[in-house]
Amino acid sequence: MRKGSIVENLNSVTERIITACRSCGRDPAAVTLLAVSKTRPAEDIRTAFAGGQRDFGENYLQEALDKQAELTDLNIVWHFIGPLQSNKSRDVAEHFDWMHTLDRLKIARRLSEQRPQGLPPLKVCLQVNIDGEDTKSGVTPEQLPALAAAVAALPNLELRGLMAIPAPRAVTEDQRAPFVQLAGLLDELRRQLPEQPLDTLSMGMSGDMEAAIFSGATIVRIGTDIFGRRG
Ligand SMILES: *Cc1c(COP(=O)(O)O)cnc(C)c1O
Repeated sequence: MRKGSIVENLNSVTERIITACRSCGRDPAAVTLLAVSKTRPAEDIRTAFAGGQRDFGENYLQEALDKQAELTDLNIVWHFIGPLQSNKSRDVAEHFDWMHTLDRLKIARRLSEQRPQGLPPLKVCLQVNIDGEDTKSGVTPEQLPALAAAVAALPNLELRGLMAIPAPRAVTEDQRAPFVQLAGLLDELRRQLPEQPLDTLSMGMSGDMEAAIFSGATIVRIGTDIFGRRG
């Protein structure tokens, strides 16, 4: 994509975040824009970085590692937001700052064991299958308390919050319900685990960002509206 368009898009997404925050009385500084760069070349990340963007999200591990190798000169905060097989956990433990899609204790244990000693704990969000879809990853709300307690006890992970990808809904009013539900689950977790820094709701994509912000999102994951439609 044209460099100018990426930076223009970044600016207009940032404006949308500010407008959404104003209209619901939130501080725009409380919402982090995560640029989802899956399928995009390293050059597009470099362009967005030059435009001021620091947080980038990747779904496919090998693709992410290849791009990271090209971008070692940039101080990027890397977020893993895709499905992870347990035999690939070491790459995430070694090369990412955040992991949004944790939904299995086995993988959590491996990530904690494999996190290199020189790095801060890996920040993690637990993925919740908020609409109970057969095809989607994530734990059910019923499974959440046990997984959260077990993850919170692992030394090299920092449990920060929850992530969800709701089923698509066209109308903003309908989009809010699953986000409000996820926010409620985070409130319950805060009561359950008062010692944990549970400050993160990773929710909202290009099509439902405003609804997510109205419902308390602290990280919005935006791909299409920054980098254009994926091929
Ligand atoms: C691709 C992806 C996004 C970005 O989606 P857009 O609709 O392109 O903004 C966000 N979150 C996850 C988990 C994704 O896989």
